[in-house]
Amino acid sequence: MTPERGIFVNVVVTEACTYSQGCRACLEVCPVDIFAAPGDPAAVGGERLPIAVRGQLEDECTLCNLCTDRCPPRALEIRRLYLQV
Ligand code: SF4
Ligand code: SF4
Repeated sequence: MTPERGIFVNVVVTEACTYSQGCRACLEVCPVDIFAAPGDPAAVGGERLPIAVRGQLEDECTLCNLCTDRCPPRALEIRRLYLQV
């Protein structure tokens, strides 16, 4: 069974994410497609909606930091879980 979240890496998006204001930077740069559109922001009546993370792909993260470097509000954190033991 595939775990729903990464065992070695978690990609965390905070409420500072400006996806609902049109930002797509992480979606465009991630080489392993970890980010995904959560749906049409207009469909939720303007409610703030962060970008989605494909949890099953988190362990594919290459730690390249392309997403964190490009994230304007610094709404992303790459957590290396294996360093927390
Ligand atoms: S660090 Fe690189 S591989 Fe990992 S989520 Fe960000 S862009 Fe994708
Ligand atoms: S780059 Fe940052 S602000 Fe933009 S969609 Fe990704 S997490 Fe949100």
